[in-house]
Amino acid sequence: EIVVALSGVRKTYRSGSIEFEALRGVDMSIAEGEYVAVVGPSGSGKSTLMNILGCLDVPTDGSYHLGGEDVSTMTEADLAVVRNRRIGFVFQQFNLLPSLPAWRNVELPLVYAGVHRSERRDRAVEALTRVGLGDRTDNRPGELSGGQQQRVAVARALVTEPDIILADEPTGNLDSASTEAVLGLLDELHESGRTIVLITHEHDVAARANRNLTIRDGLITADEPVMAS
Ligand code: ADP
Ligand code: ADP
Repeated sequence: EIVVALSGVRKTYRSGSIEFEALRGVDMSIAEGEYVAVVGPSGSGKSTLMNILGCLDVPTDGSYHLGGEDVSTMTEADLAVVRNRRIGFVFQQFNLLPSLPAWRNVELPLVYAGVHRSERRDRAVEALTRVGLGDRTDNRPGELSGGQQQRVAVARALVTEPDIILADEPTGNLDSASTEAVLGLLDELHESGRTIVLITHEHDVAARANRNLTIRDGLITADEPVMAS
């Protein structure tokens, strides 16, 4: 079952008369249950690709099917619905609301999805339990370590049962112990069948995935399985 399919994706940025093609014809497909890392140096087009995969932006040219739906020509309003329903985001900055307890942060995507109040708390607590924070549901982000905050963010990404988890440099702000904890958590999610796309410039982080796509100057230049070490 193919979950992500990009074909001939181009993205051109324009400022005045100057054009820059940040993606120059990207083809990729990702099957359900794969754990794929997109790795490349700064400026190679990772953020641009992440924005398209995450339905935060649309291609200038080419097509993108997510969960069988053509999202490359959708309006912003429809994209917002797809983002909330099909994608779980994990960002470098955790993007948690500091005034809300952990479970309130985790239930937010369910609020947007129109899930009934009585169901939301149970699902939020369940997601927090899955990431090992069942005893921290009422703590605010400021009362949690960086690694714990990122686990709250992962719980928020899981709570809608999305088609893909999209993690953009998720360990960029963490010390090595918390990095290991978050990567261990992604390993577990993969083992439980989730489809994960990890965007990183760090080769040792990318090596945790099962498949590495290398991006350079707006093109995928390698697509290789990761050998177990
Ligand atoms: P990465 O995330 O790998 O660092 P980006 O996708 O951010 O790469 O950028 C790829 C290229 O596109 C870079 O050369 C960058 O300067 C350029 N770029 C990114 N966003 C814009 C924009 N809004 N306008 C013009 N150029 C951009
Ligand atoms: P990242 O650290 O994620 O690669 P960047 O620092 O490359 O992000 O870009 C930050 C923001 O600035 C993004 O929204 C990107 O689209 C935009 N941007 C990047 N390069 C350019 C550029 N050359 N011109 C205009 N906007 C840019």
